[in-house]
Amino acid sequence: MPSGPISVDTHLADILAQVRPLSAYPQPLLEAVGLPVAEDVLSPRSVPIFDNSAMDGYAVRYADVASATTDSPVSLPVTGDIHAGAPSAHPLSPGTSMRIMTGAPVPMGADSVVPVEWTDAGVTQVQVRRAPTLGEHVRPIGDDVTKGDVLVRAGDMLDPRRIGLLASVGIDQVVVPPRPRVVVMSTGAELVEPGRALHPGAIFESNSFLLTAAVRATGAVAYRARSTSDDPAAFLEALEDQLVRADLVITSGGVSKGTRDVVKMALRSEPAMQFRQVAMQPGKPQGFGFVGSDRTPLFALPGNPVSTYVSFEVFVAPALRRLIGRSPVSRPLFRARLTEAVQSAPGKRQYLRGQFIADQDGTRVTPVGGAGSHLLAGLGAANALIVLREDRSDVPAGESVPVMLLDREF
Ligand code: AMP
Ligand code: MG
Repeated sequence: MPSGPISVDTHLADILAQVRPLSAYPQPLLEAVGLPVAEDVLSPRSVPIFDNSAMDGYAVRYADVASATTDSPVSLPVTGDIHAGAPSAHPLSPGTSMRIMTGAPVPMGADSVVPVEWTDAGVTQVQVRRAPTLGEHVRPIGDDVTKGDVLVRAGDMLDPRRIGLLASVGIDQVVVPPRPRVVVMSTGAELVEPGRALHPGAIFESNSFLLTAAVRATGAVAYRARSTSDDPAAFLEALEDQLVRADLVITSGGVSKGTRDVVKMALRSEPAMQFRQVAMQPGKPQGFGFVGSDRTPLFALPGNPVSTYVSFEVFVAPALRRLIGRSPVSRPLFRARLTEAVQSAPGKRQYLRGQFIADQDGTRVTPVGGAGSHLLAGLGAANALIVLREDRSDVPAGESVPVMLLDREF
């Protein structure tokens, strides 16, 4: 029985319900950047690990220098030098000082540090001209992190700041999922690799470049396969070859209603593949399912470049985030004021290319590029998708609309 198009939300929910996260395992810290940790990470120790100096100066007993002023400096013998990485061999005796560098261990017996700027910088004897407060310029044990503190929680993304934090407590490995390996395949007898000569009727193959770059921008690994012709057997053979290195496959083209819709012809009879019409513009024909003995998820995206890209952002990128256990999986929607009126097809969710600007006057978005889903120049000029819900048709200038920002992984 023919059924009507299905909503974007339903299609996405169906996909997410079937995609299982990859198993996490311990990986070196720098391999984990941009991945979510699979479990809470507790600090194995307190940091600072020992009391250390926050300044270059002199380690002292507060009681010895409490009265120091410019007019009435306190003079103390200097009994040694303490450098970072080299603790003092002896404790500080009352009535003496030791020269100390930033990060060096504060010796036993000292409780405060006088910055060199508050002294005459003496080498064997120092004149202290200003008193610190008790404990001043000493970075005490555990000031930063206490042993057992939760440093990052399960699901937190490992950004450079968190990587630095983990390293600072001595952690060198962290449990994260592997980066999904994604194979990108394009189909079409008309496609020629950029850099090659065009023959009559040929166009340059661009989708696999766009998709490969988009996959990498999510932090996943992408392999770009050469495009295949419109022969289903050749496509299936190429797919079979690629499956060994794929946690997920993306194809573009060959899923609509033409007479040579190769992906659809090749995969239509696969029991775990579904080809659907989704109530969206662009991107109506969508295929999703599982192929091969490992049940590898496969997205069969429409061939028009803008449709392919929008489909990637709306369906594939969320699935990639699910594979690594991220939540939420979809880009957040921000709001921006429309600078021009736009139209949206009623009953469909519309994704318009837009230029988003945030400045002192607030946020606004200007539609760029025409309606055609072959118009890559508009896509190149866009940094956002304007998202118009199914119940919208004419949207006036000045209205605040939801936008998806495309520039970086959130
Ligand atoms: P299809 O869905 O295969 O009928 O393709 C729809 C439109 O997108 C056609 O104009 C194709 O030439 C174009 N197209 C399909 N695949 C690609 C590709 N990989 N690169 C650039 N354009 C493509
Ligand atoms: Mg085609």
